[in-house]
Amino acid sequence: MTTTPDTTLLTRLDSGCEVLLPGDAGFDAARTPWNLSVDQRPAAVAVPRTIEEVQDVVRAAVAAGLKIAPQSSGHGAALLSELPLDDVLLLRLHALTGVTVDAAAGTARVVGGTLWQDVVEAAAPYGMTALHGSAADVAVAGYILNGGLSFYAREHGVAANSIRAVELVAADGSLVRASAAENAELFWAVRGGGGNLGVVVAIEIALLPYADVFAGMLLWDRERAPEVVPAWVEWTRTAPASATTSLRVMSFPPLPELPPFLSGRDIVVIDGAILESDDDATALLAPLRALGPEMDTFGRIPSAALLQVHMDPPGPSPAVADHSVLGALDAAGIEVYLEQVGPGTRSGLMFAELRHLGGALAAPAAGGGALSHLPGEYALFCAAMAPTPQAAVAGRAAAFSVVRSLAAWSRPSLVPTFTENRVDSSRFYDGEDWVRLCRVRDEMDPSRVFVAGHGL
Ligand SMILES: Cc1cc2nc3c(=O)[nH]c(=O)nc-3n(C[C@H](O)[C@H](O)[C@H](O)COP(=O)(O)OP(=O)(O)OC[C@H]3O[C@@H](n4cnc5c(N)ncnc54)[C@H](O)[C@@H]3O)c2cc1C
Repeated sequence: MTTTPDTTLLTRLDSGCEVLLPGDAGFDAARTPWNLSVDQRPAAVAVPRTIEEVQDVVRAAVAAGLKIAPQSSGHGAALLSELPLDDVLLLRLHALTGVTVDAAAGTARVVGGTLWQDVVEAAAPYGMTALHGSAADVAVAGYILNGGLSFYAREHGVAANSIRAVELVAADGSLVRASAAENAELFWAVRGGGGNLGVVVAIEIALLPYADVFAGMLLWDRERAPEVVPAWVEWTRTAPASATTSLRVMSFPPLPELPPFLSGRDIVVIDGAILESDDDATALLAPLRALGPEMDTFGRIPSAALLQVHMDPPGPSPAVADHSVLGALDAAGIEVYLEQVGPGTRSGLMFAELRHLGGALAAPAAGGGALSHLPGEYALFCAAMAPTPQAAVAGRAAAFSVVRSLAAWSRPSLVPTFTENRVDSSRFYDGEDWVRLCRVRDEMDPSRVFVAGHGL
């Protein structure tokens, strides 16, 4: 029997947690995610500022008959857009933030919806950084709970492996800590199990001892893609694990806010990080530099500056995307990629990215959690800007077209953080791990209170 949720139970919480209902001033602003193409319409939105407020609102939402969808930044909001949210409380965690670095231990405690930018800035004065992704304003929680693919990944593996402990608010409102020493099964599950187990209100992560890094980008006009793409694919075949790079064909409309090297241009870009001495990194890059890029920013930079290298949008944006994992790319695969996005094409995409996998990502990490590796050679990620619903339909079709055209080179696995449509989530995990993860979820959330981007 289903009962109609009673949202009036949410309006006066003891903790004072802000809860907004449809029609309330501020409701629309509070429900708006980073991905502006997603129009999420939940039954209520809560914006807690403390862990106690999270506990209070979880208890109240359950009493009101609502499900709960934790959301830190809304970068992954496209996943929730496929679900009806009329019986869901959206738990926005952007007001619950903070980073504490323990330099001696080489760890950071990251609260609620804190963004990677804040973690990287907090770690930098100690000569450290973290396994962040390409964008500064992605939140730690959604990224790392779903795996997390960094430009340090081929050397250091999936970001979830760097989790040392989590604190989460369970479906009954209790605060549970999980680490290697406490609630070990939950600790295993939360490292890659996404948002299925509770509201993660703090994460302790191991930092990386890098004050600076050899990183940057090489840029050519797209006309050069038929030389650059095969050269990079060849280069990736022998690149050491210390190098994590990506190749993108990108297209930009003419916009005054863009720098001239991007505005109105079709380009091919190789970027990433190389954890080597300047001399060794320079020697490694030589075959790519020999292709004479019109722009070459590779060099030693403060590790915090790695967040700017990939040129991700500087703030909330409307975007749609599709993704697959590819195995080895032969000449025929490269030809198909170029037929889709190479010179003379009009794919409608902002970019079609090939992110190099392998290295430490290839095999399960010793002592790792539910998702401790990302098999495959390349993560293909195609994205289009979607300022209108019509553009979203066209953009999705364009992204799907590239993914489908490369189906013969694709592998069954997926990178969860690059997967923006709801799929059978067993594809993210090794078979037995998925069963084990579902078992932990059943123990933690038998009534299925939590609605995760990637459900189980
Ligand atoms: C511009 C851009 C660049 C990106 N670059 C990379 C990259 O380099 N590498 C990479 O791996 N990914 C990358 N991503 C993908 C990104 O990591 C995922 O979208 C990730 O899920 C975002 O996490 P979030 O918390 O910011 O997003 P949200 O949409 O807030 O969260 C996504 C999901 O995570 C869960 N979740 C979030 N917070 C919590 C919480 N506190 N407790 C419990 N569950 C929670 C929920 O299930 C939620 O639906 C990029 C995305 C964009 C848009």
